[in-house]
Amino acid sequence: MTKEAYESLIENAIHYYGKVHQQVKAIEELGELITALSRHLNSNGTVYADAVREEIADVAIILPQLARIFGSTEVDEFVEKKISRLHNRLKTEFGENYATEKRDFETGSFR
Ligand SMILES: [Mg+2]
Repeated sequence: MTKEAYESLIENAIHYYGKVHQQVKAIEELGELITALSRHLNSNGTVYADAVREEIADVAIILPQLARIFGSTEVDEFVEKKISRLHNRLKTEFGENYATEKRDFETGSFR
């Protein structure tokens, strides 16, 4: 799917289903992801991994619609700021070379 076709699909979903409906849908999908993750973490295995993947996909599809409803440009600005903040936190907590020197969290040493 081209970027243009994807953008058109997002627009059409909002147009045909409506802004309020898609916000309710987002709440439902986020709730389903929470439930799937919770089951996965409580299952002590990979029993619910596919359910988590499916709900991640549902959320990945609905989030751009939410962003479009509330302002994609403004959302993108927040994402940029928060990604930068995460990068700075990683540098502060794990050092300048955190991206190239991965720490082994079981031993605490760098690999
Ligand atoms: Mg779902």
